[in-house]
Amino acid sequence: CGIVGYVGSQSALDVVTAGLKRLEYRGYDSAGVAVLADGGLATAKRAGKLVNLEKELSERPLPTGTTGIGHTRWATHGGPTDTNAHPHLDNAGRVAVVHNGIIENFAALRAELTERGHELTSETDTEAVAHLLAEEFSSCADLGEAMRLVCRRLEGAFTLVAVHADEPDVVVGARRNSPLVVGIGEGESFLASDVAAFIAHTRSAIELGQDQVVELRRDSVTVTCFDGSPAEVNAYHVDWDASA
Ligand code: GLU
Repeated sequence: CGIVGYVGSQSALDVVTAGLKRLEYRGYDSAGVAVLADGGLATAKRAGKLVNLEKELSERPLPTGTTGIGHTRWATHGGPTDTNAHPHLDNAGRVAVVHNGIIENFAALRAELTERGHELTSETDTEAVAHLLAEEFSSCADLGEAMRLVCRRLEGAFTLVAVHADEPDVVVGARRNSPLVVGIGEGESFLASDVAAFIAHTRSAIELGQDQVVELRRDSVTVTCFDGSPAEVNAYHVDWDASA
C-alpha cells in the first residue's frame, strides 16, 4: 500500500518510519522496515498499526544504517499477520523486498522456486520476488540488473523496492501499473509510492515511467527500462503545499 526507500547519511530507519507515517492516511493492515547495517540486513515487521512496529523497534532496536526501506501493507494474498507483512527476504537473509500491487503469476513462480530448493515461509505473492532476486544477484552481482531480469518474468501490477546486503549503498525500485516516485536530495535520495513520504526533505522529484527500474545511490539516480535500455527521465518540482 505504501512504500518508502532511503539512501544517504541520515538514519534510514528514522527517515523511513517518518515517511510511512506520512502515508498512513492511505490505510494499511501491517508495517515493516529493513535497514542495511554492519554488513548485514536487519528487519522488523508487525501486523497492525505503525505503533505496533514502533513498540517492536523500541524493544528490539535495529542497528543504525543509512540505507533502508519500509512498507505499509494492504493484504491481498495471505492474511494480515506478522509473517505476511513486508519486507520479505530470501533464505540467506541478504535481500529484502517490499511490494505494492499483485503478482498474478506468483503460484507458478513459487512452485518453480520450491522445486529448486527455496523455502517460502509466507502466504504472499511478494515473497517469490525476494527469492528470484537472490538467484539473479548470485550470478550477476548487480541488484539493478537482477531487478530488471526478475521484472521481465512478473505479470500483474507492482511497485517493488529492494536492497541487498552485498550492495549496501544502493536501493533499487521498479514499477508496472503502480506508482513510484524518486526524490533527489543533497547527498541523499528517496523512493516512495507518493511524494508525501519525502516532501519534508526534497521537492526535486522524478516520476518513474511504466516498466522502468531505478537504481538509487546517495549522489546518483539511474533509470533504465526493463530491457536494460536507458529510459527517458521525467523530472519535476513538487510545488504543492505538503503541510495539509
Ligand atoms: N499483494 C501483496 C500482499 O498481499 C502487496 C499488497 C499491498 O499492496 O500492500 O502482500
